[in-house]
Amino acid sequence: MTKKYDVIVIGAGPAGYVGAIRCAQLGLKTACVDEWIGKHGAPALGGTCLNAGCIPSKALLESSELYDRIRHSGETHGIVARDIGLDIGAMMDHKDKIVRDLTGGIETLFKANSIDWIAGHGQLLPDRQVRVTAHDGGEHTLSADNVILATGSSPVAIDAAPLEGDRIVDSAGALNWTEAPQRLGIIGAGVIGLELGSVWRRLGSEVTMLEAQDVFLPMVDQQLARTALKLFGKQGLDIRLAACVKSSRITDAAVELEYVDPDGTHALSVDRLIVAVGRQPYTEGIASPETDLLYGEGCFIHVDENCCTNLPGVYAVGDVVRGPMLAHKGSEEGIAVAERIAGQSATVNYETIPSVIYTHPEIAWVGKTEEALKKAGVAYRSGVFPFMASGRARAMQQTEGMVKMLSEADTDEVLGVHILGAHASELIGQAVIAIEFEGSSEDIARTVFAHPTLSEALHEAALYVDHRAIHIVNKKPS
Ligand code: NAD
Repeated sequence: MTKKYDVIVIGAGPAGYVGAIRCAQLGLKTACVDEWIGKHGAPALGGTCLNAGCIPSKALLESSELYDRIRHSGETHGIVARDIGLDIGAMMDHKDKIVRDLTGGIETLFKANSIDWIAGHGQLLPDRQVRVTAHDGGEHTLSADNVILATGSSPVAIDAAPLEGDRIVDSAGALNWTEAPQRLGIIGAGVIGLELGSVWRRLGSEVTMLEAQDVFLPMVDQQLARTALKLFGKQGLDIRLAACVKSSRITDAAVELEYVDPDGTHALSVDRLIVAVGRQPYTEGIASPETDLLYGEGCFIHVDENCCTNLPGVYAVGDVVRGPMLAHKGSEEGIAVAERIAGQSATVNYETIPSVIYTHPEIAWVGKTEEALKKAGVAYRSGVFPFMASGRARAMQQTEGMVKMLSEADTDEVLGVHILGAHASELIGQAVIAIEFEGSSEDIARTVFAHPTLSEALHEAALYVDHRAIHIVNKKPS
């Protein structure tokens, strides 16, 4: 007999597993189907984020930054450490342990919430039936009143550089090398390219990044992006803009690339290459053709503002639908859908989703950039405070970057906050709350911040909007 659930979730990444847990909390009988096989060869929960994305990359970013700081900043603090060694294998073991612990943690949460974890490929059939093909090829069918599709995304491949063993890899492959390539090429200077480039640069690689666009990080406020480009250049990331890769060739000794930029055609020889040119929704075999599931532009599953697909009782959340491909966006959609299935009202505020690039310094932002406000013809005021003027940043030797706040000219409502600096990923949360509560720069200016903290830079940027920042000369224009 077909086993019947209130909800079946297909996909156990941050959108799917979080949605499944919320469904179970609300008393819904829930199953979660996922096909991921972890590095240890057994099925694993957590999807790309936990197994091959956010978490392992952050582990390596943290380890490599610690190494870099000990080597380059210790002496300024009076710490003399000689003969500093590097064991990349041990670094990888540390990363793998974090992944194992966290994916195991979700397994525990599933058990505690009585969620059935079903390992295998799930496919939506008509009438909210789900066919599960187990890893050994066995098949069975489940059915549910509601199905949530949360199958995530996969790296975009390009003909100019097909993946090849451990020499031409995607983002997942570049998380597992046990030695730093001497010359590393990266196609794409986006989020993944910059994060992985930072890791391997710190571990000793010469890094060359070829970016097709002529603008660096077009989604980032350009005042910060320009500053970041200079800082990354000083760190040794050779970022070449308007550089479009045409072909690659593997020889015994190298990966030979040919790329074109406004000056002509160039050759680049590297030892290893990472292809980081974006991600695409992962929908292969997710629904049988008889379901008539509707897809939109770019093969994203078509959904309305409530993540409802065109099929009654079938929802889609996370990277597989429109919006930024961010774990936290997917998780919020998973929660909102679970609550709506349970009869509650729930929405996701897409205007307040923060973005972070985990370079050093980090780049984090929420709301509108200055360029977007100009384009939309919105009158605004801005305040900028550099970390150089922050006592805490100086004590930490983390003086690079700034906080920039943009508020609506008449109402003073905060429209955007952009941070380039140490711990920007943590600081941005304060700005998200301010925007979520429709706060003004005056609200933030009147808020007491602890001293000495990096957060004071946010306070000062808010004061600056009204030309009354204290720790920087900031006179009202006469
Ligand atoms: P991306 O879109 O951020 O960057 C890809 C870059 O590759 C773009 O700048 C693009 O112009 C360039 N490019 C494309 N084709 C090219 C070519 N042929 N030659 C040279 N350059 C080319 O994509 P990504 O870095 O792969 O990240 C994928 C997704 O994953 C993004 O949506 C990102 O938000 C998400 N992600 C987020 C985080 C985070 O939140 N910190 C981390 C990793 C990934």
